[in-house]
Amino acid sequence: MSSPLMATYDRHDVAFERGEGAYLYGTNGRRYLDFAAGVAVDLLGHCHPHLVAALEAQARRLWHCSNLYRVPEQERLAARLIAHTFADRAFFCNSGAEALECAIKLVRKFHDMTGHPERYRIIAFNGAFHGRTLATIAAGGSAKHLAGFDPPVDGFDHLPLGDAAAVRAAIGPTTAAVLIEPVQGEGGVRPVPPAFLRELRAIADAHGLLLVFDEVQCGMGRTGRLFAHEWAGVTPDIMAIAKGLGGGFPIGACLATDAVAAAFSPGSHGSTFGGNPLATAVANAVLDVVLAGDFLPHVIAIGERLRHGLEGVIARRSDVLAEVRGLGLMLGLQCRVANTALVHQLLANGLLSVPAADNVVRLLPPLIIDDAEVDAALEIIDRSCLELANKAA
Ligand SMILES: *Cc1c(COP(=O)(O)O)cnc(C)c1O
Repeated sequence: MSSPLMATYDRHDVAFERGEGAYLYGTNGRRYLDFAAGVAVDLLGHCHPHLVAALEAQARRLWHCSNLYRVPEQERLAARLIAHTFADRAFFCNSGAEALECAIKLVRKFHDMTGHPERYRIIAFNGAFHGRTLATIAAGGSAKHLAGFDPPVDGFDHLPLGDAAAVRAAIGPTTAAVLIEPVQGEGGVRPVPPAFLRELRAIADAHGLLLVFDEVQCGMGRTGRLFAHEWAGVTPDIMAIAKGLGGGFPIGACLATDAVAAAFSPGSHGSTFGGNPLATAVANAVLDVVLAGDFLPHVIAIGERLRHGLEGVIARRSDVLAEVRGLGLMLGLQCRVANTALVHQLLANGLLSVPAADNVVRLLPPLIIDDAEVDAALEIIDRSCLELANKAA
């Protein structure tokens, strides 16, 4: 297929003309149940009435004016994120990778400000994903993502996930921070043991390092808590968020404590589009829904229904599926067949999903799904596994 686009994606030959709730409608006339949600972006499904109303109202008032001026919607969004997290300050940008770039720069600037400019190295973990800019592919450390882009940005040391002794041994005079996803997404939906996150907090405190959480994928209610690290009862010094924050409108943020954010002064960092009135009006509308008292309990309950159902499917289709893992509505199915084969079979049967490393199929439905939609997805997954098993036989 010849395309005017750079060949950076191996795309499915399907396009969508409309979305409503958990469903997408293809230009081929078919309806798809969307358990990809734009890779954990369409947090509240498609065309959520409250988000559409916020977007339309803001579109008639003001789209963009630059961070040379005060942006009330941005200040309100920052205040609300701060009220519900460890953080005291926010910086807004347009993507996850930019949120991580800000976090990495803030780590370096903090140690520079506090008299340790030699501290610049960041400990990260095997299987991590932090974005596709030069610095964030170095932070992720994936050989596949780094290939052909030498020289890599210096300053990242990768260790096995969950090995506290390796972290202690890797710390040297130039170590500045530890960077981790509380639940690895691209790496195969691997929740980090809460005890390991707590140990990283203790290690960081003992050595004067900053602890940075990448909640770009696992944050914003995806796991049933507003942020995934809440399950472990520890807080970071810096956190990067994006994906679900705008419910489909591009926006990212870097949150930090006052002590760390103090390293930035006018001119330290910036973004032309970051936190513009349109993006922050929509993100505020997302928060209206997610912060309502009954929303996160719904995510937990519906996540348990999905997980329980998947365990039943695995028991029946153990020739195709090995295990389910994850938290809330961030679930991964590890496959015994090629994960891409299952993704294709699910698509053919009208269910969207996303592959991940470790031969995993990710299920990342919009957080507004109901029981009937979960049951419909389970039926498609069961049937698709049966079809794959019959094909192999
Ligand atoms: C998607 C993702 C990113 C990068 O976000 P972009 O918006 O694609 O730049 C960073 N970290 C994690 C954990 C992600 O899942």
